[in-house]
Amino acid sequence: MTNTETEITSSAGADNIVAPSDSSVTSATPPATITFADFGLDPKIQKAVLEQGYTIPTPIQAQSIPHVLAGSDLMGAAQTGTGKTAAFVLPIIQKILRHASNSASPARHPIRALVLTPTRELAVQVAENAASYSKHTDLRAAVVYGGVDMKEQVGILRNGVEILIATPGRLLDHIGSKVANLSQVEILVLDEADRMLDMGFLPDLQRIINLIPAQRQTLLFSATFSPEIKKLAQSYLRTPVTVEVARQNAAADTVKQVIHMVSSGDKQRAIVKVLENRTRQGLSRQCIIFTNSRLGCAKLARALERDGIKAGAIHGDKSQGERTLTLDAFKSGAIEALVATDVAARGLDIPDMPCVINHELPYNAEDFIHRIGRTGRAGSTGDAIALVDASEKRLLDDIEKLMKCKLDIKPLPEGTPAYAKPPSGSAASTKGADPFFYKPYEPTSAPQSSDDTAKPEVKKVGIVAAKPAVGALLGGFKKK
Ligand code: AMP
Repeated sequence: MTNTETEITSSAGADNIVAPSDSSVTSATPPATITFADFGLDPKIQKAVLEQGYTIPTPIQAQSIPHVLAGSDLMGAAQTGTGKTAAFVLPIIQKILRHASNSASPARHPIRALVLTPTRELAVQVAENAASYSKHTDLRAAVVYGGVDMKEQVGILRNGVEILIATPGRLLDHIGSKVANLSQVEILVLDEADRMLDMGFLPDLQRIINLIPAQRQTLLFSATFSPEIKKLAQSYLRTPVTVEVARQNAAADTVKQVIHMVSSGDKQRAIVKVLENRTRQGLSRQCIIFTNSRLGCAKLARALERDGIKAGAIHGDKSQGERTLTLDAFKSGAIEALVATDVAARGLDIPDMPCVINHELPYNAEDFIHRIGRTGRAGSTGDAIALVDASEKRLLDDIEKLMKCKLDIKPLPEGTPAYAKPPSGSAASTKGADPFFYKPYEPTSAPQSSDDTAKPEVKKVGIVAAKPAVGALLGGFKKK
């Protein structure tokens, strides 16, 4: 189905929700009077939302939910961590709730909503949310992704599931073996669509979308609206409403950003010192460190461990089991530095991440925004530190061009083994001075992150069902 133009949000679908006057910049917190009840969501959904501890909708939720409920196609420009998952999952549950059935018959549980994501991690995260938000209903949610055995997924799909979260390749496998049928899909979500295009999923997306009824509602979420994304939207969305919660291609104001020029040979030591300084300042040492390659990722993690830092690596060569273990260790605090490539880090939900370090700048400027988006999420503050050497100057230029602002480059604190050695006799060169003393950041704006050179990976997990027999599930979570 083709469409025409994009309609810019001029009013939200609920009387008491104020739409931004400038749709390109919406960073204001929604009026305090707005609650989830104002959306008219079913009490079963509201109960689940309350149990999550959410009191007021985030801006992307306040602006998107009424439009989705009203049936509009939607393009959402939202950074990671803005609450965008609930922005589409909650209204989806509301819209398909009328189909909820406690029947055990698979025929009563066709796929009504399909969420496509670029990576297994994001798929799992979305699925966990869908399971939580729908836990008081009879709707079933499940997730399928590649890299794991299909058998369990087949069982789940055969039992029937209303909300399916999938990575494209594995979904096509299931469609090919006639286990998944998309003929009753009413709502399609393309989550992190920019990443899906970057990862070469366009042909897969086209094949999948062609199997979904034309009379559907399509929602597309992307951190940035590149020309390619706009083209995708033109092809598959109908007069979509556009909702943005932050200036395009900019990072959240809650991220304090600092860039240090550091020669490549000194970067590892710089990280150690940065973490030591965080300790001195009473700040958390928990951080994600982004690298550009799997090999570099693994090597850096090992080197940091030798330096006494509890580090773990997560990249495309790791099995799903290894990734899960590492991520769990990171979330529990057993690991303080998670060294990651972009693809592997995509979709990680770590709400209170205090610090992101770019060991090197990404080749793709948009990834910088994604990376930094791992911190400063959902209103919390965070530090984003980029270690940049001279050979990366061009990448830095690209990032600044994309973000439409000049990033603050600060010299490393005196005495650090960066480009310039401190003049002899300076305080930093004095015996006993900490050559790496890290000065507190000054507030600036922010960017964010992710993706690696890894191949698209898909995997799956299943969730489901509150109701006995049919409640299967893979991979690990279920409705609680
Ligand atoms: P997301 O952007 O969907 O990855 O969400 C980022 C984080 O914000 C997740 O940990 C969510 O659980 C959390 N979150 C989503 N909506 C809200 C809300 N209305 N209030 C507080 N936290 C939220």
